[in-house]
Amino acid sequence: MVHTGIPKIRSPNAGPGDVLRFKQYNAEEVLMGRKMEDWLRFSVCYWHTFCGTGADQFGSPTLHRPWNEGTMDSAKKRLRAAFHQGSTLEESNRNLEEITDLALQLQSETGIKVLWATCNLFAHQRYMNGAATNPDCHVLAYAGAQLKKGLDTAKKLGAENFVFCGAREGFFSVHNTDVAAELKHMANFFKMAVKYKEKIGLKCQFLIEPKPKEPCKHQYDYDAMSVIGFLQHYCLESHFKLNIEPNHTTLAGHSYEHDVVMASAFGMLGSVDSNTGSPDLGWDTDQFPMDIRNTTVVMKVIVEQGVLQPGGLNFDAKMRRESTDLQDLFIAHIGAMDTFARGLRNAVRIIKDGLIAGMVKQRYSSFSHGLGQRVEDGSASLEEMEAFIKQTGEPNVTSGKQEKYESIFNHYI
Ligand code: CA
Repeated sequence: MVHTGIPKIRSPNAGPGDVLRFKQYNAEEVLMGRKMEDWLRFSVCYWHTFCGTGADQFGSPTLHRPWNEGTMDSAKKRLRAAFHQGSTLEESNRNLEEITDLALQLQSETGIKVLWATCNLFAHQRYMNGAATNPDCHVLAYAGAQLKKGLDTAKKLGAENFVFCGAREGFFSVHNTDVAAELKHMANFFKMAVKYKEKIGLKCQFLIEPKPKEPCKHQYDYDAMSVIGFLQHYCLESHFKLNIEPNHTTLAGHSYEHDVVMASAFGMLGSVDSNTGSPDLGWDTDQFPMDIRNTTVVMKVIVEQGVLQPGGLNFDAKMRRESTDLQDLFIAHIGAMDTFARGLRNAVRIIKDGLIAGMVKQRYSSFSHGLGQRVEDGSASLEEMEAFIKQTGEPNVTSGKQEKYESIFNHYI
C-alpha cells in the first residue's frame, strides 16, 4: 500500500482553507428519500488519476507519484502491456488475465467496485482508421476479438457498466469514406456485443459516450442527439444508454448541461463522466468540475430523472500539469465531490420549492386543454388549426422571462 499522509476526511463545518475536508458531501445524509452516496456514485478514473503524468505535447512529465515507483511500477508496466503490447491477441489476453486477477484480488480486499469498464479500440496503430468503422474487415474482426475479451473481463470484475468510447469512429475526409457502410458496420458491431453480453449473462448497462471531435474531424457519436438517432435507426435503443461527458458537450458547441438534458429527456441518460473543459479553449482539457452552477443543473436533471444507477459520476478528469503535489490529487477529488454535493443540495431546494417548475408548467398550460390537449396527444389536424385561428385570430405576445428564471436560479446557488 502507498501511504499518502492524508487523513480520513469528514468535517461539514470546515473553514474555507480546509480543502482536504468535505464541507458539503455527507454520504449518509438522506435527500429526497435517498442517501447522498446513492445520488452521487463517484468513481476515480484509473487512466487519469493513477496513470496521468502531466506530460503534454510541449513537455515531459511533471507529476511524480509514489505508485509509479517500486513494486507498483511493475504492475503498471504489466497493465500497459496488457492493453497495448501483446504481440498477438493470445498474449494480450494472457497479460489481461494476469492483471485482472490482481485487480479482482484488490477489489475483494478493499470493497472498491468497478463503475464501468471499457475497451481501448483506438490507441493502437491498427485502429488508426477506426475499429468498428474501419474500411478493412480484418481490423474490425480484431476489434471484435478484443471486445469479446473486454466483455469477459467486465463480467469477471463485476463492472456495473461498459462504455463504448468511439474515439476513432469517424472520418477526416468524405472523399475516401463510405459513411453509410461504416455506420451500418458499427451498428452490427454493437449488435454482436449485445448478443455476446446476453450469451455470457453479463448484467451491466452498455453506454455510448458522445464526442464531436478529437481525434477525428467528424466523430459519428457527435453528441447526445446524434447517438440517440443512430441507436433508434438501428433498433439498438433498448440495449444502450449514454455516458455524457460535459467537456465533450461543450466541444460540440453546446452549453455544459445540454447533452445531460437531452439524453435524460429521451430516457437515455445512463452515466456522467464528471469533468469540465475551459470555455476559452477548444480542446478536451478534462478538468475537475468546480463550477457549482453547472453541477446544480446536472444534479437537477438527475434528481428529476429519479435515478442514475447503475451509472454514476466518474471523474474523467486529470490534474493540471502544474498541480504537482500529491496533495493536489486529493484536493481535486474532494473539491469536485463537494461541488457535486452542493449542486445536489441546490437542486433539491429548487425541486422542493417548485417555483421554477410551476413557472414552466404555466408556460405550457395551453397544452392542457382544448386544441392544445389534442396536439399533446397527437390527434389534432392542420384543418382544425386553421379553423381555430379563423375563430381566435392572432395569439397574444407572451414574455419568455429568461432573466426572471435566471434570477430565481441564482437564489439557490
Ligand atoms: Ca470520458
